[in-house]
Amino acid sequence: MSLHPHPAVSVVIPVYNEESGLAALFARLYPALDALGEPYEVVFVNDGSRDRSAAILAAQQRERPDVTRVVLFNGNYGQHMAILAGFEHARGDIVVTLDADLQNPPEEIGNLVAKMREGYDYVGTIRRMRQDSWFRRNASRAMNVLREKITSVRMTDQGCMLRAYGRDVVDTVNRCTEANTFVPALAYTFALRPTEIEVAHEERAAGESKYSLFKLIRLNFDLVTGFSLVPLQLMSYSGILLALASGALFVYLMVQRFVEGAQVQGVFTLFAITFCLLGVLLFSIGLLGEYIGRIYEQVRGRPRYLVQTVLQDLPAPPGVFVPPTGRPAAHSVETASSETP
Ligand code: UDP
Ligand code: MG
Repeated sequence: MSLHPHPAVSVVIPVYNEESGLAALFARLYPALDALGEPYEVVFVNDGSRDRSAAILAAQQRERPDVTRVVLFNGNYGQHMAILAGFEHARGDIVVTLDADLQNPPEEIGNLVAKMREGYDYVGTIRRMRQDSWFRRNASRAMNVLREKITSVRMTDQGCMLRAYGRDVVDTVNRCTEANTFVPALAYTFALRPTEIEVAHEERAAGESKYSLFKLIRLNFDLVTGFSLVPLQLMSYSGILLALASGALFVYLMVQRFVEGAQVQGVFTLFAITFCLLGVLLFSIGLLGEYIGRIYEQVRGRPRYLVQTVLQDLPAPPGVFVPPTGRPAAHSVETASSETP
């Protein structure tokens, strides 16, 4: 059986080295979606996994060709690029994103879809009893506060990927060509009626987190630089303040020099002030570099990701003869199509 021509719901799932957890995911995801009672499709995007994930996904596509599509990247481009590729291939009126590690319970998809049907075009989520390490919970709490202060993106819990997006929002995201982005925030900027609901959260079912501390920092810089110029503006304000303060210090030292004569006391205080200023300077240059690096990546305009193959049984277009036996026309395999920004 081939895919439904007009699914109501598309579920996009990025997959990177998740071989140990995929069977458990399938066992809960498909029953939860079948229970919706509406045509749906699942779009898995394999983000260049080096384990057996791609083979497991391909086998699942053969198992449930009526509702499964698999986009295979030819390398690792990151979770958000994988979601963007899923958006490009998704055909549903409502697109739901989900992590592959079962931290987002698939049973919640029905609640998200029901909320969307109330007339919203973006349903964000807040994790009830978040099951992550103390460090992760507190680091993301701090980032949530910072993002709330310096961007116009309003969401309670930015880190949860279990979200639903309306067709118009997804179409607009598909027109964007950002080389680095944070999908929930990008989509939020285009939503006309966003809302949030609480969802359950579980511990990772199998495997380990794909985010090292370094990758997490990079991701948060993507969020900050992609949606706010406040850090750059703060740099110029703090520059003005520091310049004024050091001007005053200079005048004070000059006056002291002529009133009290030459002296060396206080030289370590001056060192301390200098090093502090150097720190501010280096941080500012680094911050500038974060923006410039992203501008550089953007202007080079290289493909954001390369799709090796799409495994899918597309329905035959109207008018095409489909033999009564065997599989219909298209077990389509788009080879080496590249998505240019
Ligand atoms: N992921 C991905 N590419 C990456 C890193 C992660 O597609 O480079 C996927 C991963 O397979 C999972 C989701 O993104 O489905 C979230 O990753 P993870 O659970 O490791 O993140 P955490 O829950 O620790 O934030
Ligand atoms: Mg996870």
